[in-house]
Amino acid sequence: NNRPDGAADGPDVKVSFEFFPPKNAQMERTLWETIRRLEVFAPRFVSVTYGAGGTTRNNTHTTVERVLRETALEPAAHLTCVCATREEIDEVVHAHKDIGVRHIVALRGDPPEGIGEVYEPHPGGYESSVDLVRGIKNIGPFEVSVAAYPEKHPESPSVQADLDMLASKVDAGADRAITQFFFDNADFFRYLDRVRARGIDIPITAGIMPIHNFKQVARFAGSCGARIPDWLAKRFDGLEDDPETARLVAAGVAVEQITELLEAGINEFHFYTLNRAGLTAAICHSIGLKPQTPERPAEPRTNAA
Ligand code: FAD
Repeated sequence: NNRPDGAADGPDVKVSFEFFPPKNAQMERTLWETIRRLEVFAPRFVSVTYGAGGTTRNNTHTTVERVLRETALEPAAHLTCVCATREEIDEVVHAHKDIGVRHIVALRGDPPEGIGEVYEPHPGGYESSVDLVRGIKNIGPFEVSVAAYPEKHPESPSVQADLDMLASKVDAGADRAITQFFFDNADFFRYLDRVRARGIDIPITAGIMPIHNFKQVARFAGSCGARIPDWLAKRFDGLEDDPETARLVAAGVAVEQITELLEAGINEFHFYTLNRAGLTAAICHSIGLKPQTPERPAEPRTNAA
């Protein structure tokens, strides 16, 4: 894998990139330009989200299929319990298995009406993320990642309940957790201590949100329970009409954040790319990842291969 600059004895740095499935031809072109620019950083996997309400169910499958066909990257397909029966969800899992997908990011999802509404399991559907993890593991030997919340999920009644939920996901078979994004590393370190004290020993991958648009990220953070520290808001203050400077500031913010995490021995990072390559590529370069010539599959990978 890839090592940070000058750290011959240092830890391997493992990155993964998250994309969302494109909704039209232009978005598809953008996504693929992004994948081509980022694959040189040899990500451990690239994940493709699943639309709220299951709306892009097919697009997720089509995108991971193209990743398998045209790259040597390992795709991870996100999947939620929302708006579907067990049979329908199992069908998606089988379809992934049949084309050679080996990794699923299993989530409860949010109500289709939007964040803030009360979540109700679909009648005849998987009740929770825990249930979904178990269902996926029953279908095949998938690697299963789940979500984790350093600042607690907004619906969680307490920090303890949130940890209990993660522990249940691990008991059901989860292999790794990927965190919601956070900007104050102290929150992540405290969370990691609590996770380990709770006896949870799976890898916890730090979710990193490159700030392409501060206002948008602040709005999103508010709805998903991630705090925007004052110092961060101050960095972007006055840059509302200066996107170029804002982007340079954003690169600095993420590089500082990751550098501190690396110094503390954290070496797995999952980037919420929003299908854009520039900032994520700049951050990867800055933390010392060297572009490598991407492999190409000799022939499409299939289940039988
Ligand atoms: P869970 O872990 O099942 O629950 C979240 C929290 O709610 C728990 O920590 C728990 O404290 C509380 N809770 C839930 N049920 C109970 C209960 N019965 N009793 C007590 N407490 C309970 N959304 C999408 O739609 N598509 C995606 O592709 C997607 N990808 C994501 C990837 C990552 C890495 C992350 C962090 C989030 C992603 N999300 C996605 C968002 C996710 O669906 C939402 O955060 C959702 O609100 C919770 O899903 P979960 O799997 O984390 O839920």
